[in-house]
Amino acid sequence: MKKTLTTNQGAPVSDDQNSLTVSNNGPVVIQDVHLIEKLAHFNRERIPERVVHAKGAGAGGYFEVTKDVTKYTKAKFLSEVGKRTEVFARFSTVGGEKGSADAERDPRGFAVKFYTEEGNYDLVGNNTPVFFIRDPLKFPDFIHTQKRNPGTNLKDANMFWDFLSLTPESLHQVTILFSDRGTPRSFRNMNGYGSHTYKWYNNDGEIFWIKYHFKTDQGIQNLTREEAEHMKGTDPDHATRDLSNAIKKGEFPSWTLQVQIMPAKDAEKYRFDVFDVTKVWPHGDYPPMDIGKMVLNRNPANYFAEVEQAAFSPGNFVTGIGASPDKMLQGRLFAYHDAHRYRLGPNYLLLPVNQPKGVKVNNYQRDGYMRVDGNEGDAPNYYPNSFGGPEPDVKAAEPAFEVSGKVARQPYTHPNSDFVQPGNLYRHVMTDMDREHLIGNIVTHLCNANKEIQLRQTKIFYKADPKYGQRVADGLGITL
Ligand code: NDP
Repeated sequence: MKKTLTTNQGAPVSDDQNSLTVSNNGPVVIQDVHLIEKLAHFNRERIPERVVHAKGAGAGGYFEVTKDVTKYTKAKFLSEVGKRTEVFARFSTVGGEKGSADAERDPRGFAVKFYTEEGNYDLVGNNTPVFFIRDPLKFPDFIHTQKRNPGTNLKDANMFWDFLSLTPESLHQVTILFSDRGTPRSFRNMNGYGSHTYKWYNNDGEIFWIKYHFKTDQGIQNLTREEAEHMKGTDPDHATRDLSNAIKKGEFPSWTLQVQIMPAKDAEKYRFDVFDVTKVWPHGDYPPMDIGKMVLNRNPANYFAEVEQAAFSPGNFVTGIGASPDKMLQGRLFAYHDAHRYRLGPNYLLLPVNQPKGVKVNNYQRDGYMRVDGNEGDAPNYYPNSFGGPEPDVKAAEPAFEVSGKVARQPYTHPNSDFVQPGNLYRHVMTDMDREHLIGNIVTHLCNANKEIQLRQTKIFYKADPKYGQRVADGLGITL
């Protein structure tokens, strides 16, 4: 049956092609409320773009447990082999605007929301196991340098490399970013990493530190610099298109979820700082173990409703999983919810894509802009109360975690240098071709910065490995 076109109030519209005018040529009258409503709504279609990770694609699917991990965590969604939990995943670039090209050299966001029966659990990581900085106080400055020059509104190699060369802890991530992993062939052909260390705890209150790795079952595939440049011009949306087309064809991408598990007491004596997001845990020390599989088998029916309005946060934990003292993570625990409150409003968790699906939300928060449900009717809106409102459950408590020390702005003093792991990556993990591409990718970008910055950054490469530094210097034509 044909549907009748209506106003937003539901009243039938008689004509949607001709505004209400005085005579054939005449001026438009203000009593055309349908026209005014249509124009006014159009003016308000855009919501603030994410300040980072603005360009992205998403898909729904499921996560299935493949290994018993109950001795490490009491999270219910991980409690049984074979158990499935609905997920929604979003992949993105970081620095580009909403219309920027998918093939930009950039880390890729890799965010997964698990709709568990104990509430939503989000793993919000990247396609890199480390990050550029280890303190959230540096984050706004860092992102400014990856975006546009405040004067010219152009991307600016001086800003980009000035900050990095003054921040040597960035070297590990810079080395991965300028390898061909900085331009993945598609979202399907890249790994995802939780990057931070997280906490698991079991029914006996034992704590373990965890690193997450989503390994692509499609295999890692990257674009070379030349292929990426070409792709940006021919199909700026190539990765978004690839994900959507693959799912449409029934080629459902999947990732094997692995974890590295460290008993809590190991952290104190481990050679690397376990809570420093610029470091990995070498696989030889803590071998990754397969624990599940994520399959994406559903394209969103509406991009805005699901992908644009999706709100992930590394602060969304379930019982059995918690934060670690990683400083960058601690900063993110605040920043993500805050960003969503700004971007989507204080009731953003009522939006269908963000609503917990496995459990009903019960609390005393009420009102606010766009409270679109029944606002809990006449149920009590304060705690404690004598009228049957929801009660805290002590079983949800995290095991106590001891910390001590002086409150101060404390410079980083861990003895293990920022150059060891990037050096190992360059020397032991990369192939000859990886190294050649890495040097070429760096040189073609760094050559746009001024000589002083080139030299300072090249010295940092040199500290990771003299050959690494020398090859960059040779490419730039500078003397170290
Ligand atoms: P391993 O040889 O056990 O592991 C190296 C890992 O590096 C590989 O398993 C692969 O991880 C990843 N890798 C392979 N090629 C590249 C590349 N071109 N760019 C970036 N990563 C690549 O060594 P270690 O665990 O001792 O780590 C050595 C170095 O490898 C680290 O310093 C780090 O730079 C890098 N690395 C380590 C990871 C870890 O969690 N230990 C994870 C990723 C990189 P994957 O299967 O995850 O792609």
